[in-house]
Amino acid sequence: MNSQRWIERGLTHVAETYGRYPLVAASGQGSWLTDIDGKKYLDFLAGVAVNNLGHCHPKVVAALQEQAGKLLHCSNFYHIPQQIELAELLCEHSFGDRVFFCNSGAEANEAALKLVRKYSTEQYGRNRFEVITALASFHGRTIGTISATGQEKVKTGFSPLLPGFNYVPFGDIQALRNAITPNSCAVMLEPVQGEGGVNLPPTGYLRAVRELCDEQQLLLIFDEVQVGCGRTGSLFAYQHESVEPDVMTLAKALAGGPPIGAMIAREKYAAALGPGSHGSTFGGNPLLAAAGLAAMKVLIEDGVLENCIAMGDYLRQQLEALKENYPFILEVRGRGLILGMEMSIEGGEMVKTALERGLLINCTVGKVLRFLPPLTVSKAEIDQMLEILAGIFNEYQEKNHD
Ligand SMILES: *Cc1c(COP(=O)(O)O)cnc(C)c1O
Repeated sequence: MNSQRWIERGLTHVAETYGRYPLVAASGQGSWLTDIDGKKYLDFLAGVAVNNLGHCHPKVVAALQEQAGKLLHCSNFYHIPQQIELAELLCEHSFGDRVFFCNSGAEANEAALKLVRKYSTEQYGRNRFEVITALASFHGRTIGTISATGQEKVKTGFSPLLPGFNYVPFGDIQALRNAITPNSCAVMLEPVQGEGGVNLPPTGYLRAVRELCDEQQLLLIFDEVQVGCGRTGSLFAYQHESVEPDVMTLAKALAGGPPIGAMIAREKYAAALGPGSHGSTFGGNPLLAAAGLAAMKVLIEDGVLENCIAMGDYLRQQLEALKENYPFILEVRGRGLILGMEMSIEGGEMVKTALERGLLINCTVGKVLRFLPPLTVSKAEIDQMLEILAGIFNEYQEKNHD
């Protein structure tokens, strides 16, 4: 069956919660996605920062295949070796002592929100439930996490939302200080904002937030769902500024493709979520934990971070260089291989044209082109991407000249 027929069927019975592009996915390998008609696309979206190891990394596929024949699922009423090993690995390489497994970023953030509320209520009394988050943040699509998100567009029509959130401009330490009330219990931030337009905080901000949290006895949650797992060139984004959170959430790339989420916490706080206080049927099940273990080992042991840093520097330089030729490019920003190009014009049409020419990129907040290739991307692939991009920019420039 060809693409057109699949698209018609897709538009009939699949919920229309996404505006979909006319691409019918069939297979993938490394930085390349192939559609049902055999057309190849250079994938600089990588499943929105999920396919950090490229499509179908052989070690992840092998781990899934091996585990699939042994045990797919087993209740969390029992001990699961793959889950134990993944928890150990995550704690060994982070600030954390305990890991709660779930299936998505939103669920990981829900777990973090439940933890800070429960800990603070037990520790300080009933009214410490408020969490301060940032404007332009993104924390997920559940009622709790849209309440936490500092963007109106995800909230419209879903009132009443969960009370207990205050929003502050990202990067403004004074605004954060002013937002603290006697009811505050935690601050939740993305160390680099992804959906909000690839926004980095000013140097020193995260450290100042940490100090403020210590001074005011607030827990600090870092949502690393998008920028964790190597995306910024270090295993976790907080490591760039050596500022440690109390709680961190992961998902997206954690298992190299399959769905998994994790909330990692220091022992002192994790103890608040004792037996019976929280759970997830599938969370950390043998199949997904085996994939997670394989993916994390590749990330740590196979030189992926080094490639991310080198290719991130190269891509950034090349994108910066484009600025010289195209006045509509305002700024290039990011870290490692999450890069944003802010423009003075809308990027939606460029994304569509790129797709037609075999390149997958994304545009956030209307005018920021976002580049999220696999961390295993090669220089030749980056050059190929740049050629397509420059072609699109040239045409835009010519069209808007006369
Ligand atoms: C994607 C994302 C989420 C939500 O993850 P889901 O798996 O879609 O629930 C949460 N926080 C951040 C920073 C994200 O990028």
